[in-house]
Amino acid sequence: MYPFTDEAKRAAVTPTELRVEEILSLLHTPSKADIKLITRGYEFAKGKHNGQVRYSGAPYFHHPFETAKYLAGIQMPASMIVVGLLHDVVEDAGVAPEEIRAHFGDDIAMLVESVTKLGTVRYRGMKRHVESLRKLFAATARDIRVMVVKLMDRLHNARTLHFVPEHKRERIALETLEIYAPIADRLGMGLVKRELEDGVFPHAYPAEYKKVSKIFNDAGGGDLKRLARIHRHMREKIAAHGLTQFHTACRVKGLYSLFRKLERKNWDITQIFDIWALRIIVPTAADCYAVLGVVHGIWPPLPGRTKDYLAFPKPNGYRSIHTTVLTGDGGVIELQIRTEAMHREAQLGIASHFAYKGQRGSVRGAHRHALSWIRQFIPARLWVEGMGNALSGSTPHHATESGAPEWIRYMVDAHEGDVNPHTFLNDIKADFFNHRIFVFTPRGDVIDLPIDSSPIDFAYAIHSDIGNHIAGAKVNGKMATLNTRLKNGDIVEIMTSDKAHPSGKWLRMAKTTLAKRHIRNYLQKSMSHAAPLSAARKKL
Ligand code: MN
Repeated sequence: MYPFTDEAKRAAVTPTELRVEEILSLLHTPSKADIKLITRGYEFAKGKHNGQVRYSGAPYFHHPFETAKYLAGIQMPASMIVVGLLHDVVEDAGVAPEEIRAHFGDDIAMLVESVTKLGTVRYRGMKRHVESLRKLFAATARDIRVMVVKLMDRLHNARTLHFVPEHKRERIALETLEIYAPIADRLGMGLVKRELEDGVFPHAYPAEYKKVSKIFNDAGGGDLKRLARIHRHMREKIAAHGLTQFHTACRVKGLYSLFRKLERKNWDITQIFDIWALRIIVPTAADCYAVLGVVHGIWPPLPGRTKDYLAFPKPNGYRSIHTTVLTGDGGVIELQIRTEAMHREAQLGIASHFAYKGQRGSVRGAHRHALSWIRQFIPARLWVEGMGNALSGSTPHHATESGAPEWIRYMVDAHEGDVNPHTFLNDIKADFFNHRIFVFTPRGDVIDLPIDSSPIDFAYAIHSDIGNHIAGAKVNGKMATLNTRLKNGDIVEIMTSDKAHPSGKWLRMAKTTLAKRHIRNYLQKSMSHAAPLSAARKKL
């Protein structure tokens, strides 16, 4: 698959001729309209980036061009490929969104604008609020197509990170590991996650990268001969048992993922059983269980290491049967047994459902499919509770009660019956995100508030003492009135004073029940004290 081939890795660093045919030739079944649209996007972006140069010295257009090739390689619809081509023209070539709208219509213009906005979400080095950052990121995207383009954009940037000046490199590398790779993981895009992680690992943690590489090599991690031998032997055995319709593939664990696991296992590589895996891909789910029986008959399994993610899919939708077996040469190997569809999903996740399908590939069908893909791992009970919680607007930080990633539960529109065939937004719209904003404290902490919240709500969300003594507020470094409507990504600073106190005016400006309750409490208390006082004043 193009984004993950050696050819793609070479082209990421060394530009090809950047001809539109390179993009088109990656598509399995482009229509005439697709070809026309992509060619228009190509000409437009190429013209707008004309004369611009990347850190690598390559023409700027090399970057959107590769992003578009990645999208074409995984068979995304033509409109998304065009968004890949155009994704930097607003930010880096000063093109007005209206111009994109005029040339390419509302849908493409909206997607380009959203991808541009995502560029403003920056990792601020605060590990403890990474989950909030991910939510902010997801909130800013709102449409999963935006996220898929953004991930491919980041994949190319990760592969060219060594060209970027050192002071920027670490931030981009950490941002990739803490935000982008986990999002890819949550969307089930296993291949993208791995490529992102391994691309930036040496830049984020150079010493650890060297250490892990050495451990990996000393353990024979790169010993592909052993893997090929086991692979051949297994194929013969399975075929001998009468199973003929299957194919297999090897995979070696990514170094970053190995690093994380080594940390959990006290750096003892003998405790890690999935450095090598063989994948066995069969036609049906029933075949998966049949193959499991066959392989356990050939090689003894390690007790307690057989996992049925078919019956119990992982929270991100991953399905497979895993087992670890003794290979008879003193070593072990992990086997991953799955069907073709499961295999595609394991690699591309949600994107596998947007993939252009010539036969019955209506956009609506793909969206419905994506919707059910997300739904399958969101327990209905949690879904309903989660929505209620999210819309109540009074709890800034929700506890996660299940393995299902909390934010992904909100990524599905609650009104499934209202599926609108024309706009993707109405299909997979994050209802939750339409009602929430994410703003930062000056230190980089993220506060989650309902839409239209004011600095007063922000202050009370931090602490009631701060709320009760608001003297003023700064938004993004500038003085702002207390009734300012906060927006996603704003940095809010509250000035306090002992003399400042809540008033009836504050009550009208507050949006959250939390802030209103504190203000009311204060007003009631001060009234009961103030009433006799003011009465006394009148007498004087
Ligand atoms: Mn870009």
